[in-house]
Amino acid sequence: MPHHQHPQDPLAHVRAKFHIPANTIYLDGNSLGLLSENVRARVAETMQHQWGNDVITSWNKHGWINLPLTVGDKIARLIGAPAGTTLCCDSISVNLFKILCAALQINSGRTEVLSTKDNFPTDLYMVQGLQQLLGERCTLRLVPEHELLDAISEKTAAVLVTEVNFRTGRKLPLADLSARARAQGALTILDLAHSAGAFPVQLLENDIDFAVGCTYKYLNAGPGAPAFLYVAPKHLQQRTTPLQPLYGWLGHAEPFAFTAEYAPAQGIRQFLTGTPPILALAAVDAALDVFADIDMADVRQKSIGLSEYWLERMAAEGLLELMPSISPANPEERGSQLAFQHEDAYAICQALIAEGVIADFRAPEYLRVGFSALYNTYGEVEKAVATLAGVVHEQRYERAEFQERSAVT
Ligand SMILES: *Cc1c(COP(=O)(O)O)cnc(C)c1O
Repeated sequence: MPHHQHPQDPLAHVRAKFHIPANTIYLDGNSLGLLSENVRARVAETMQHQWGNDVITSWNKHGWINLPLTVGDKIARLIGAPAGTTLCCDSISVNLFKILCAALQINSGRTEVLSTKDNFPTDLYMVQGLQQLLGERCTLRLVPEHELLDAISEKTAAVLVTEVNFRTGRKLPLADLSARARAQGALTILDLAHSAGAFPVQLLENDIDFAVGCTYKYLNAGPGAPAFLYVAPKHLQQRTTPLQPLYGWLGHAEPFAFTAEYAPAQGIRQFLTGTPPILALAAVDAALDVFADIDMADVRQKSIGLSEYWLERMAAEGLLELMPSISPANPEERGSQLAFQHEDAYAICQALIAEGVIADFRAPEYLRVGFSALYNTYGEVEKAVATLAGVVHEQRYERAEFQERSAVT
């Protein structure tokens, strides 16, 4: 038996906190993390006791009004950000709109938003929408990922990148990116969708200007749970004009004065818009408590261990020739996922799901496997690769039922 099949796993006890669906090996925590008992209990408690009994007094009594900030501070600890710089609100898409506006305003002599051709589409769509709104004041320039650093120039207002490529799992070198942007006078906007909760992130240390991310992937806060946004402390100092144009009443300096004129709150609070979704925020709060006594270095180490073991098992089963990895070979250059190319990747994924192994498919032809160090095990990796080998070698994916596409893939 390979030595790492029974490694010292400092996270082994965490799995018991999660609801593991029966007869299922869940390798899709990079899309929607599993439900924890923490989250289930907190949402029930928030409904029954807070909303149910204390009703409107809960805005003060249970701190509902400050939840976007208090939850934001808990996220901040996982992404190397100081308190008071991170908010939990809205979706990544909406937060990107706010952040892009702030960046273009701060770097107002420049118009270019630089990004990568295969960035997650919503990131690119949000720039395209802003371009429609702002006309000449916003331009979008797209380059291949490997050309990104060299493409940052004195014309670039902001570099918008997802730290971990959602298809390939490639992780960009933050320190290099930040240094290059700084040297050219460009701001940095990071999408941490596949970073937060997956490995340690150091925003302040790397001098990143802005970040967004979601809580329903590696943070396990539940479907559609609110996202987060980060603004570097240096951009939060007092200024005369608001940083972002979604002038919501909860981003006002005095929301309960109900004045007709907008005046932004100081600090990160001015990035708030409307009433926060308290049940969903309670879920994020509870999901983050699972991370309270966890060392993110352990999470990273186990994530690398699981993914290396996956590759080793696939090699042993003769699968890597049939469905080559499109992820970097060096685990230090990856996030917490692997992707494999096969023209029938969609059907293979469907066949795996039918046999209790949940992975996912990304167009045009990739099977994606996500590793959540909090609940996945080496034993699961072994069984899942054995199932994959059966599906592929015996061509069980060729059955008609595995070819039909659903609305969500
Ligand atoms: C999942 C994901 C999103 C999701 O954006 P929402 O607006 O929160 O739905 C955005 N960016 C990346 C890179 C993602 O992986």
